[in-house]
Amino acid sequence: MLDPAEIETLLARIRGRLPDVKAPAVKRGKDPFRSVVSCMLSAQSLDRNTAHASKALFALADTPEGILALPDGVIAEAIRPCGLYNVKTRNLRKMCAFLVGELGGRVPATREGLMALPGVGRKCADIVLHFTFGEAVVAVDTHVHRVCNRTGLAEGRTEAQTARSLEERLPDAWRMVGHKLLLAFGKQVCRARRPLCERCPVPDLCEAFQAGAVRPDLSRGAVTNP
Ligand code: SF4
Repeated sequence: MLDPAEIETLLARIRGRLPDVKAPAVKRGKDPFRSVVSCMLSAQSLDRNTAHASKALFALADTPEGILALPDGVIAEAIRPCGLYNVKTRNLRKMCAFLVGELGGRVPATREGLMALPGVGRKCADIVLHFTFGEAVVAVDTHVHRVCNRTGLAEGRTEAQTARSLEERLPDAWRMVGHKLLLAFGKQVCRARRPLCERCPVPDLCEAFQAGAVRPDLSRGAVTNP
């Protein structure tokens, strides 16, 4: 695992390679309920399919009471683009019933509160906290999880374990931009298959690269690394 000085160096170099990545501006008035629903729909779905499904569902209803009033078949048809629509319909209904029955319809603004909602896990809770409530937390998805474990920034077998490890190890100054930065790095450079190690700014710090544990794509040519 990287030590604190190495973590700072790693993040600063990644930042230097991806200068356009900015911390998210919290959209005032963004609806926490819509955020939770969209996050639930995003499981194992491409972003564009999630967007289609969310748009179709919110055109029918965008409150817990409104969704509860819809028949299952109508919900499932609306969210079909994001896949797993029967399971997601059941989870949405349970989540909405919990919100209405236990919380007066209000979406909690804490991680514990969000994770108490049926069907909402740590990643979804952290995404809502970060992008809707403006909290300085890093949501760990598959890309962030991979980057953390390859480099030694944090460790965990599951995304939730990595999230806990990262929370302990990430310097405060990087918590607002950390999610978008590591996500972009994971998508653009440290890809799941054939990462672009020859174009990476941190191969000397990356534990997986140093151990020969990754199969980089060598076809793209090297750039000058720090
Ligand atoms: S050296 Fe390769 S595996 Fe390591 S962080 Fe860079 S791209 Fe990812």
